[in-house]
Amino acid sequence: MDYYALPIANLIEQFSKLPGIGRKTAQRLAFYILEMEPLEAEKLAVAITEAKEKIRYCSICCNLTDEDPCYICNDDRRDKSLICVVEGAKDIIAMEKTREFKGVYHVLHGVISPMENRGPDEIRIKELLNRVYEGQVEEVILAINPTVEGEATALYIAKLLKPLGVKVTRIAHGIPVGGDLEYFDEVTLSKAMENRREL
Ligand SMILES: [Zn+2]
Repeated sequence: MDYYALPIANLIEQFSKLPGIGRKTAQRLAFYILEMEPLEAEKLAVAITEAKEKIRYCSICCNLTDEDPCYICNDDRRDKSLICVVEGAKDIIAMEKTREFKGVYHVLHGVISPMENRGPDEIRIKELLNRVYEGQVEEVILAINPTVEGEATALYIAKLLKPLGVKVTRIAHGIPVGGDLEYFDEVTLSKAMENRREL
């Protein structure tokens, strides 16, 4: 690290904080940026700053959005009585690609994870309960990833929702345990939604 001029060292340092980026890749990216046209590098910097400034959570579904409510919550053609609960905003994209789901979403932003010290209050469960309390919701589909922690989170949420008189379902396992929604093809995901079971 000492071999680099400080600004280069800083850049490498910042890249190596990103997920899946090791030291070597961080170096490669840093040098790539130094080789870029100044205007191109500037565009990258501005894109990061703007995304951070403009993107926030939708006040209804907690999706990442630059307008509040987000375009899905704002869409009159979507069935507001049907909520599909997902772990992350990326899962919405996966679900939307199937073009079959006509309800709305709720993004938890994580799962309950004792290992990572993340309890129920650290993810957006309270916001989901509030939506159900309002009374318009008929079914909540738990499309949380089928990992061990995902299953535990789904059961935890189901237990809270059941007394509220809402139908709670879990997507079927065409999806392998440990799988991640964003990596399934549209057909698998559609089938999993179709074959959901009541909890
Ligand atoms: Zn929304």
